[in-house]
Amino acid sequence: MAPTDNPPETFGIDYAPAPESTAVVDIADSYGHFINGDFVEPSSGATFPTVNPATETHLADIADGSAEDVDRAVTAARAAFEGPWGQMPGSERGKYLFRIARQLQERSREFAVLETMDGGKPITESRDLDLPMSAAWFFYYAGWADKLEYAFPNRTMAPHGVAGQIVPWNFPLMMAAWKLAPALAAGNTVVLKPAETTPLTALLLADVLQDIDLPPGVVNIVTGAGATGAALVSHPGIDKLAFTGSTDVGKAIQRIASTRRIPLTLELGGKAAHIVFEDSAVDQAVEGVVTGIYSNQGHVCCAGSRLLVEESIADQFVERLRRRVSTLRLGDPLDKNTDVGAINSADQLQRITDMVATGVSEGADLFQPEVDLPDKGYWFPPTVFTGVQQSHTVAREEIFGPVLTVQTFRTAEEAVEKANNTPYGLSAGIWTEKGSKILWMAEKLRAGVVWANTYNRFDPASPFGGYKESGFGREGGLHGLSPYLRERTGGTRGGA
Ligand code: NAD
Repeated sequence: MAPTDNPPETFGIDYAPAPESTAVVDIADSYGHFINGDFVEPSSGATFPTVNPATETHLADIADGSAEDVDRAVTAARAAFEGPWGQMPGSERGKYLFRIARQLQERSREFAVLETMDGGKPITESRDLDLPMSAAWFFYYAGWADKLEYAFPNRTMAPHGVAGQIVPWNFPLMMAAWKLAPALAAGNTVVLKPAETTPLTALLLADVLQDIDLPPGVVNIVTGAGATGAALVSHPGIDKLAFTGSTDVGKAIQRIASTRRIPLTLELGGKAAHIVFEDSAVDQAVEGVVTGIYSNQGHVCCAGSRLLVEESIADQFVERLRRRVSTLRLGDPLDKNTDVGAINSADQLQRITDMVATGVSEGADLFQPEVDLPDKGYWFPPTVFTGVQQSHTVAREEIFGPVLTVQTFRTAEEAVEKANNTPYGLSAGIWTEKGSKILWMAEKLRAGVVWANTYNRFDPASPFGGYKESGFGREGGLHGLSPYLRERTGGTRGGA
């Protein structure tokens, strides 16, 4: 799509390339599933490739999991639950989680580079968000493993058994950490299925699990696409399901889980409102809005994809926003100067391209800065739509790409009304200097997480999750531990 005419002036600053070295990463030609503590060949022999989306180069062949592979993994997880892991005191389980956390810290550069190569996100994000957060999640839940009786006083809690966990491609290792850490702290064993376009960091995590001598079968990793995930969801040996991904797949999983009456948590899509009042610190708000939508190329469930700006400052704000967007550096995700990396896959690029074309055909005004897109790889320029109506597809549907829509409001009530006019309810952002307005808004916004004068902040002690079509259940904090436990009468198994 052609850039709009007259993009705002950029500052003409050029940086020397600062690519992170890939020498720290050792990628095998092919990977099997990680089952019962070992890498094993897929039963069907089938594989699929994983590619670097920034270069389209082939990275490795990945085992394509069949129902038989899933069954082997569930059987191994069951044996570990009935055996060493299920009998282990929480204090010992906690030590394994601490070891995983420390290994993630020690090998963080290797993990970060691999995450960026497999997924396309800027190295600064893998290095400064994905890896520290993944380690922090294990540290945090390690601390709970021997304190379950204090976490849930006067109740005897027990793990469910074998947890089936399915994660998406936007934060591959971090989403795995968010799921594995509470499950293991609570005493469950796990079968994890990473997303098909980004399996490599989960498989490197398997290497860590071997290094720390985690008992075989406690964590099993079966790779594959939707059919592998579906086989995991339908396996009768699964006692608890946790899914992060799209709302449509989440609904399908919910239907299956409900027929078997197994506990389920769903972390699904979002269409967050990012609300800027005229009394905000405008330059900081511009930075927050840019971070909120363009980090990780907008492949973020809680991305602030709908800007609602108070009408009195709208023109000025949009002008500053366009100028700032024009300075974003798009290109090699391994370069430490890069702000916007590669789109995760050819399919996702097509989806974003189609959605933006729909936005134009429905009458919204497109702004894209002039950027040179690399010849190879999957790229999409940071995009701003103004003149957006609530009925426009781009204002209603999750795009999961670097695309921001701008609408205006005149009163706080109108901002709330517009923000809540979505089937989703995951997150929202507010920018104002008035604390009372923040509290008033936060109470009325129907979103699981509300950030004020900041955006995309995460902490393992702070629950994250949505409601309505953004799912149910929380990850992080005690809220994230409880879905992995059930109350039982008598006995202390799985406790301290
Ligand atoms: P997706 O639903 O297509 O895939 C997610 C995972 O589910 C992948 O591992 C995939 O292989 C698997 N899967 C696909 N079909 C399946 C089926 N029928 N049964 C079982 N598993 C199946 O989603 P995606 O495109 O990978 O991820 C993007 C979506 O995830 C976005 O909608 C985003 O908002 C959401 N997301 C939500 C959160 C959150 O915390 N709420 C976090 C990250 C991503």
